[in-house]
Amino acid sequence: MFDVIVIGAGVVGAAIARELSQYDLKILVLEKSVEPGQGTTKANSAVVHAGYDCKAGSLKAKMNVLGNKLYPELAKKLKFPFMQNGSFVIAFDDEEMETLKALYQQGLENGCEQLELWSREKTLQEEPALSSQVRGSLYSALAGVTDPFLACYAFLDQGILNGVELKCEEKVIALEKRGQGLRVLTRKGSYESRYVINAAGLYSDKIANMAGDFDFVIHPTKGEYRMIESKDNPVVKRTIFQTPTKKGKGVLVAMTTHGNYITGPTSRVVDNPECSDVDDEGLAVLDECSKKSVPGLNFMRSIRVFSGVRAKPDTGDFMIYASKNMQGVIHVGGIESPGLASAPAIGLYVKELLEKSGCVLHQKENFIDELPEPVIMHRLSFQEQEKKIRENPKYGKMICRCESVSEGEIVDALHYPCPSRTLDGVKRRVRAGMGRCQGGFCAPRVLEILCRELHLEPTEILKEDQGSFLVTGKLKEDA
Ligand SMILES: Cc1cc2nc3c(=O)[nH]c(=O)nc-3n(C[C@H](O)[C@H](O)[C@H](O)COP(=O)(O)OP(=O)(O)OC[C@H]3O[C@@H](n4cnc5c(N)ncnc54)[C@H](O)[C@@H]3O)c2cc1C
Repeated sequence: MFDVIVIGAGVVGAAIARELSQYDLKILVLEKSVEPGQGTTKANSAVVHAGYDCKAGSLKAKMNVLGNKLYPELAKKLKFPFMQNGSFVIAFDDEEMETLKALYQQGLENGCEQLELWSREKTLQEEPALSSQVRGSLYSALAGVTDPFLACYAFLDQGILNGVELKCEEKVIALEKRGQGLRVLTRKGSYESRYVINAAGLYSDKIANMAGDFDFVIHPTKGEYRMIESKDNPVVKRTIFQTPTKKGKGVLVAMTTHGNYITGPTSRVVDNPECSDVDDEGLAVLDECSKKSVPGLNFMRSIRVFSGVRAKPDTGDFMIYASKNMQGVIHVGGIESPGLASAPAIGLYVKELLEKSGCVLHQKENFIDELPEPVIMHRLSFQEQEKKIRENPKYGKMICRCESVSEGEIVDALHYPCPSRTLDGVKRRVRAGMGRCQGGFCAPRVLEILCRELHLEPTEILKEDQGSFLVTGKLKEDA
């Protein structure tokens, strides 16, 4: 019998599990995929928004502003990347300037700090690569960028170190009342718990339906992206948004925490929540829009294109509430943008909802509050690198040349509290395969390391999720 079962190991489920791991609770996280963070968490803009563009009074606004405040300290303690480099919303005409003023007012209502309206001159002085057609901007000093995979893994690492159990490849198919508690049925078996948190992202409406709740419907909405090397590109220090329209925040140009640029996203409603394709039409729109902000962008330096799918609810706001039909179930649904920025605040909010539902929380005495610094060889000084290699020669063997990732770092990825199990899991954890050649050189070597460390055959190693085998068999028998 668990105290709490969290359905879904995206950044939101992970943040909830982390928050609750501070208390004496038996917690289980059930994830349908082979690895955590493979839903919307794996493909988004990675912006920790300040919170000015959420409708005043909405739950989104509340979660976003608080989440933004919580990120710096969390990132420091849990050692995941966070860069508070600020953001601009730029306007190109009088009408857009009026929208910026309205956004500024909304930001003040939402409790955002350090917001300023900047003139054309000041905007261009600060970001000279922007289009000369810019009329002015809304500047937010507190907006930042993070690495969504590493944030998600860090929340899970801390949760697991503090007793949370994570079970992957456990798709939840039904919820039932069971005496005073609940029973969660998965494709593999069943688990009992006093409380169940539905953090199933794109499927959060389906899980709500399992509890007899039909308060929201998710309309999956795809967003396409282009990742570009900063080399041979103009310098853009902050996240650049265009003035939002009814369709959304528009296309941004932003620096990632790893020093590349990301442009995107588009916005298209799709039938299939799992779709991850990018087509010429989407890319054409994307490139035209991003060049409108930064005309000098050089797409010849593209690393890859990809897409993510938003869990857009028909209600327009996050749907975080206790089920009226099935006592003990809490829905955390419709977590579209700014869900990444809001995740730590959602964790706190869910904790409060649990308490309101009668769950008594006792603080753990031996809670592990910080995570150790991961070894990232290319960030170390020459002397530090030498010391590390002497301790473990695997840190001296370079596997991914594009991103300078050593064998030691890849082995580490397989032994974190929340360990990587797939090629893409390793890529997201330590960036092997994330660079310009996209794994063309290092993928076979990472595969060998996965086989050796996990005692698996090459035919058993997956690229990402169920069925994505990299190797199907031998061409010839070993001599
Ligand atoms: C294009 C785009 C841009 C965005 N940009 C930003 C941004 O810049 N800043 C920001 O704050 N937010 C942004 N977001 C939103 C942000 O990415 C999401 O709000 C956040 O990732 C949601 O996390 P989640 O954990 O709720 O969902 P997910 O990451 O989808 O996690 C849900 C998990 O539940 C699992 N699951 C589903 N069904 C079941 C089941 N039946 N049983 C077990 N497990 C199940 C899934 O496999 C998945 O791992 C963006 C989103 C998109 C698509």
